Amino acid sequence: MRILIKNGYIVSMASEIKKGDILIEDDRIARIGMIDCEADKVIDATNKIVMPGLINAHTHVGMALFRGYADEDELMTWLSEKMWPIEDKMSASDVYYASLLSAIEMIKSGTTTFNDNYFYEEETAKAAEKTGMRAILSRCVIGDADEATKRLAEAEELYNNWHNKCNGRIKICVGPHAPYTCSPETLKRCVKLADRLGTPIAIHYLETKDEVKKMRDNYNMTSTEYIKKAGLFNYHVMLAHGVHIDSESLETLKEISGGVIHNPISNQKLGSGFADITKLRMNGINVALGTDGQGSTNTLDMFEEIKSAAYIQKALYNSATAISGEDVLKMATIEGAKVLGIDSEVGSLEEGKKADIIIIDMKKPHLCPAHNIYSLLAYSVNGADVETSIIDGNIVMENRVINGIDETEIMNACSRIKECLFNNR
Ligand SMILES: [Zn+2]
Repeated sequence: MRILIKNGYIVSMASEIKKGDILIEDDRIARIGMIDCEADKVIDATNKIVMPGLINAHTHVGMALFRGYADEDELMTWLSEKMWPIEDKMSASDVYYASLLSAIEMIKSGTTTFNDNYFYEEETAKAAEKTGMRAILSRCVIGDADEATKRLAEAEELYNNWHNKCNGRIKICVGPHAPYTCSPETLKRCVKLADRLGTPIAIHYLETKDEVKKMRDNYNMTSTEYIKKAGLFNYHVMLAHGVHIDSESLETLKEISGGVIHNPISNQKLGSGFADITKLRMNGINVALGTDGQGSTNTLDMFEEIKSAAYIQKALYNSATAISGEDVLKMATIEGAKVLGIDSEVGSLEEGKKADIIIIDMKKPHLCPAHNIYSLLAYSVNGADVETSIIDGNIVMENRVINGIDETEIMNACSRIKECLFNNR
């Protein structure tokens, strides 16, 4: 299959923005330039932006059912009194429909890759398979002893059933929940599993002040020392949040493979604080962007996270030059891919890379006039402006219609499940 995208503003995230064409052959970008050739499908991108699909580097898409539930609680209350009790009632099918709803939401707002950590994760894999999304998935491992044994076995089964499936679109990693919810023994067992399977490790890290205190009280260590001692930093790590990073931890992070995932809206909404990502990036640490689950962020629109990330740094530093629109776009694309360890395949538009591409029409009042396309993308575009999405060389959405998916049916199913779940099934 050959797809030719003609005459767009190509925002490759690898070189200067220029007008041109992109030829896709099967799952990869074959050529970028001025191209005249036969193709099975030609997309006219005149007055449109053609850019890499966005990478949501941290989320829990099974939480779609909790959108708008428990909106004004602190993280620890929110988790232990609201989220965990309702999650205990969820079935595999509930997670499947929530994942499908989330996949639709992500595709319709420009995300092509997501990194997810939850339970019944094979249902999320099925949703990624059905909708055509690229995904890195992990079974959330939490607790110790028997509980951890059960979850580690599920994590390995997930790997055996899904790793590198769908033309390599789906990858599996190991996902211990957080330093404060995993015993040293559980963390070491996670590391052992990641070592045996050869996968990266995803973990929540330094999200709240409460975590800092808990780790000090329980172990007389920082979260950084704790996970370093368990051996996590010998592997590629994806550290979600990093809000409360002290100077010693910063030194440790300079040496790691992977990076930190910034979730600006979740951190603000749960009152967790402001991550100093400017300092992290100045020290050569890769920073990705994520939404977290809809229980704490309410939507999976990465363009909202992009804006929020930029505004926070400008306010934090009392300086409009603290971070640029282009910097934040990098975090949502190529830098995000680096944190997830998939930058050789996605994150920028380059010949030979996988064809994960979104197209945005600029002919809209809030996108006119265009002084600077990076600024337009960072500060004016919203998810609903994404017109077409291509993932792994397949057109998954064209003119805002997702191929092979009945959106109404999935929304209705999720509304029914929500009623059932919250009225004591
Ligand atoms: Zn999270």
